[in-house]
Amino acid sequence: MNAFSAVPLMPKIVRHSVRSISLVAVLLVFMHLARGGFRGLHTLGWTDACLVMFLLVGLGASAWRRLRRTALGSVIELRDDLELGGGLVAAAFIVVAIGGAALFPLIYLLMAFLVAFLQRNAGITLLGVALVFDGLVTLGGPGPGSGAAFATHALFLSLFAAMYHVVLSARIAAARRAESGAVQKRIKEVEERARTFRLISSGTQDSFSGMNQDEKWLVASVKEVEGAVGAALEVAETALRTHTCASFLLDSDDRGLKLHDCRSASDRVQRERFHSGEGIIGGVLKRRAPVRMNSLNGLKGITYYESAPAVQAVLAVPIIETGGQVRGVLVADRITNDPFSDQDERLLTILAGEVLRAIEVERVMTYIRKSRDEKDRFFRAIEELNRAGNPEQVFIAVLESARQVASLDFCAVTLVSEVDGKRMHRVARMTGVTAGGKALEGQAFPDNNGLVANVVRYGAPLPGRDIKAMDRQIVFDEETQIKGLGALKIFPLTAGDRILGTLVVGSRKKVLDADVLRMLEVMAIQAAQAVLRAQLFEQMERMATTDGLTGLLNHRTFQSKADEHLAQARRYQRKLSLILTDIDHFKSVNDTYGHPTGDAVLKGVAKILRDKARDTDIVARYGGEEFAIIMPETDAKGALVIAERIREAVKAEVFQTEMGPLKVTLSLGISTGPDHGYDKQHLIDLSDQCLYHAKRNGRNQSVTVAQMQGGRKLQVAEAG
Ligand code: GH3
Ligand code: MG
Ligand code: MG
Repeated sequence: MNAFSAVPLMPKIVRHSVRSISLVAVLLVFMHLARGGFRGLHTLGWTDACLVMFLLVGLGASAWRRLRRTALGSVIELRDDLELGGGLVAAAFIVVAIGGAALFPLIYLLMAFLVAFLQRNAGITLLGVALVFDGLVTLGGPGPGSGAAFATHALFLSLFAAMYHVVLSARIAAARRAESGAVQKRIKEVEERARTFRLISSGTQDSFSGMNQDEKWLVASVKEVEGAVGAALEVAETALRTHTCASFLLDSDDRGLKLHDCRSASDRVQRERFHSGEGIIGGVLKRRAPVRMNSLNGLKGITYYESAPAVQAVLAVPIIETGGQVRGVLVADRITNDPFSDQDERLLTILAGEVLRAIEVERVMTYIRKSRDEKDRFFRAIEELNRAGNPEQVFIAVLESARQVASLDFCAVTLVSEVDGKRMHRVARMTGVTAGGKALEGQAFPDNNGLVANVVRYGAPLPGRDIKAMDRQIVFDEETQIKGLGALKIFPLTAGDRILGTLVVGSRKKVLDADVLRMLEVMAIQAAQAVLRAQLFEQMERMATTDGLTGLLNHRTFQSKADEHLAQARRYQRKLSLILTDIDHFKSVNDTYGHPTGDAVLKGVAKILRDKARDTDIVARYGGEEFAIIMPETDAKGALVIAERIREAVKAEVFQTEMGPLKVTLSLGISTGPDHGYDKQHLIDLSDQCLYHAKRNGRNQSVTVAQMQGGRKLQVAEAG
């Protein structure tokens, strides 16, 4: 165990005795000197030696205590100075007594040193002590010149002390002046920066857009001001000579404080959130006014250190917004016994204003960054929407963009349509999950009292209020629930006076902020335009490729599809069959039942063709009452099976007319590649010949090239 930790364990009386060694030693030395001790080397005896040892022990003890206090950052008391100084003076007198009067200037030097480095009171006291003892030694000594010698000593001692004091004070004052000049300069700089920012900020509200180049400059300027907190604390640290100077900001709920920035000689400043209602800081927040305390008040309630150092004085001022809201506290403290003055308080209050401005700048910065990013995303989203060619791409773009603009947890596009005169809502695309993980995509809901149906009905966004305030929200229908949403909004997809559907957005967050909602609303309008455009485009394309009466592909499209499929079949040497078919005696249908009935029959036959053909087959209206079917990967036998299936179905169909039931039959001709090559016109001609062959042989039959060339009619059973 070392002396360091042993001291506090010692009983009080022992501790006091140890502390007294120095004083007792000094007193004994002076008494011995006054009685004529230490007169020359030859007279030294045991008493002198013991006294010197005792004095050295005392000096050692007080030097040790001083070092320890300095290391701990504790205050050096007057008594500490006196103990050490007294010991040194006594030692110097011993040296002079032993070495002779010629060494007396040593005491002048020592006195100058003590006055310069110890506290002023200690210096003066020690000067007095030295004078008294010099008086005792010199006046009490032998010889007639003792009075004059004492006067000389007293004069020079006082002179040295005074001179040193004056010189030192002047130097300190000069240093302080230089320091305060630097501080003033720094304050000026900070003010300049703040002014620059205020100028910028006053013009920023409406001029963000279109200031690309200036924006960089603006951001740089604002960034510069962001450093204002650091600068303010630096000013406080230098000007107020603080141990710690720190800004703490209140949480959003005002219950806790968190370190914002700090300059401190200690690494124990609280970095974690701490309670804002306690101690000195709690007092400042409650009173909304500065608080000043020093060790006389008994410093308690310092909550902003993990473990408080020996703080002697604290000054804390609130950081208050122009609106009167308290945002935090700016704290300054000292470990020297040097209370804060009115002027210190004024300075710290001004600096608190600087800190506040810096906080506001940070807020503006965040806003600039956020709104710039939002705008970027928004414009990218609109671009993406405008690029989308077909409705499917539009839906994907809408959902993707909506999610980019706002971090959404649920997003869907619904489309409204009339099915058999009834309004239906279909979920065209969706991201996110419904309760129970129900897949909604492609699902249709009848018109009901749900939010989607009502948005389409009234053409306005819903719901108008917080969804938490609603008992139950039916978005699509009763069965479909979306759980865990904190915010929900459904926008109509409005294009002109048409409402095409809705954009449904939901977030787990409590609110979707107004900016985001506005952007989503604009996106819904853009999306509606894009959907309409894509739908019109599809419609036009459909009109160009299909036949208006039957809905089958038209002749032109049949030709290009035939080219396409024949090219593929040729490349991979695949089978491909081509059927041409014609309604038997159709002219008489028209003649007997009228043209409209003829049309209805054409439609009915077309439907049977589409139903009986396979998904991979391509069915087209070839001409008036003639149809064509391209059958990839199909040989003559396979084509004949399908042809017969179609023929039978048409034959079985009864068309109801005003003049009673009507039945028709089909004749079909079949050619196949590669059996008869891959030339389109050749295959068409062959199918046509087969068809003609069927007509000539009594109609209502299917004929392949082989059958035609074999010159006989083949039964399906034989073919299959
Ligand atoms: P066949 O058994 O030899 O084929 O006798 P057909 O009466 O069907 O003879 P043809 O092919 O010469 O007659 C075709 C008739 O189909 C002529 C035309 O009036 C009728 N037609 C063509 N296109 C349409 C149409 O779009 N609607 C209606 N209602 N009739 C059409
Ligand atoms: Mg015909
Ligand atoms: Mg015909």
